Amino acid sequence: STNSQEDVNIIRSPHNDIDIPNATITEFLYSRMENYHKYTATVCAETGRSYTFEQLRIKSRNLSKALRKILKLEKGDTVALLLPNLPEFPICVFGPLEAGLIVTTINPLYTAEEISRQLLDSSAKAIITLVSSHETAKSALILSKRKIPIVTIKSREDQNLPQGAISFNELIDNTINIPDIPPGSPDDIAILPYSSGTTGLPKGVLLTHRNIVSNTCQVTCPGLDISIKPTDSYQDIIPAVLPMFHIYGLTVGIFGSAKNGSRQVCLRRFTPELYISVLKNYKITLIYAAPPLVLFLTLHSDVKMEYLEHVRVVTSGAAPLGALDEERFLQKAPKSKMVQGYGLTETSPVVTMCTVKLFDQGKGTGSIGQVVPNTETKFVAIDDPTGKPLGPNQSGELLVKGPQVMRGYHNRPEETKNAFQNGWFRTGDLGHYNEHQVFFLTDRLKELIKVRGFQVAPAELEEIIRDFSAVEDAAVIGVPDDINGELPRAYVVPKKGKPLKEQDLVEYVAKKVAPYKQLKGGIEIVDAIPKNAAGKILRRQLKLKYMKATILS
Ligand code: AMP
Repeated sequence: STNSQEDVNIIRSPHNDIDIPNATITEFLYSRMENYHKYTATVCAETGRSYTFEQLRIKSRNLSKALRKILKLEKGDTVALLLPNLPEFPICVFGPLEAGLIVTTINPLYTAEEISRQLLDSSAKAIITLVSSHETAKSALILSKRKIPIVTIKSREDQNLPQGAISFNELIDNTINIPDIPPGSPDDIAILPYSSGTTGLPKGVLLTHRNIVSNTCQVTCPGLDISIKPTDSYQDIIPAVLPMFHIYGLTVGIFGSAKNGSRQVCLRRFTPELYISVLKNYKITLIYAAPPLVLFLTLHSDVKMEYLEHVRVVTSGAAPLGALDEERFLQKAPKSKMVQGYGLTETSPVVTMCTVKLFDQGKGTGSIGQVVPNTETKFVAIDDPTGKPLGPNQSGELLVKGPQVMRGYHNRPEETKNAFQNGWFRTGDLGHYNEHQVFFLTDRLKELIKVRGFQVAPAELEEIIRDFSAVEDAAVIGVPDDINGELPRAYVVPKKGKPLKEQDLVEYVAKKVAPYKQLKGGIEIVDAIPKNAAGKILRRQLKLKYMKATILS
């Protein structure tokens, strides 16, 4: 019958389903961390300051009590983290979670304006940041007309705490004598990262404790677990350069590390020198990367083959990596395996993952692997309202069902509704699976642009550009770029009689957004923005126009 035919085309995991613990993130991970107490959990690549798993545990509890007692935060309140990768980052996540609070993570490269939008949208009741970002945080609070405490981390002993800041270091070093609060429900919201989804402005993604616990277990199921648990003679060591404010860096660097006992060497920012010094000074065993980092490892002459000698597996995600790039990397690191994973902020994040076995069989090259356990997926023809699953090698939009799929978008019922079709989450990604049920992505249907794996929402840039005095209308698309993956490019209709200098617009935008959102893909002056009858921008048309022009030039 058609029904069973359809059922065949719903693709499940080749791995057996797993039991997902019915626990909050901290209940679950603290119980794992107990096994690794004496081992180093995090270390700063620059200063060398470090924390064992036991220290993380004690300091997180101290922070959790201070947030309740001193900052008077209550269950369900939101704490914003404006932080680069630091050895204290896990404390800043576990502390609030243990207190029943919600954590929203903000990109530390953001301008005060961008920060203020997220603080307002998330109704954050406190912010944790660094001495060097304290001023930006203050400006953001002024812009958002909020008065909330700023807890500030000194990353060096000799730093002075800015006027009005609450000392993070004091909060985590002192134990306040109040009882622990009982853990909340696994279905409470835990993490509120921001994503623009398939369309529009960045939105708060409601991830529950269960979402995170599920995905942490799904990606380490038998067959997928690449970790080796620490002993007195061995520990997995991982450079933590993927930003922890983003779901990929957060889950690998904090939740995965706590579950597996690996050591994270934290890089506050990526510079070739610092990254190479980490490769040189530590026996790195696992690398988590986005495509530009894989290219860097492959192409940079100061990355010596011997630095990669102990690397067992390199995992790439967050943006597409071509089969050729995988192969070129493996020539430099012949002992290592290379696997890709795929996911989204909305899916906590992992949906598919390549296994080492698939890699060894040569069936995984250039693919995003296979479905993780406890998850169902299907490909559906573009805009097919019936949701009929397509068969192998047929191209369509990928839809997902599983315990890692978000509750919805914060305060956005309409967008939440549109993100699902009959209970299936719509990824906005285009691809197919083959006869081995191995998945390939071919394109992005949604308007999202990814620059070096970072999200850029066209709608956000368009709003900013339309505010510029000489601009009548604007549209933004992503155009391909060898190093960055994509770059944002603007199509602009000038106001009648107002001269528009492209350079002025570039500079205007640069002042308002993080560096990776700048219009480095260029600006093109046009007479009109192509739109459909409903006023929706026809981005595909602009993309096609750009592709044609670059091919002809
Ligand atoms: P984010 O929510 O920032 O993690 O962005 C999710 C989006 O990144 C996905 O919907 C994809 O478009 C893209 N993405 C993530 N992983 C991969 C991958 N391995 N290959 C291609 N695109 C990816």
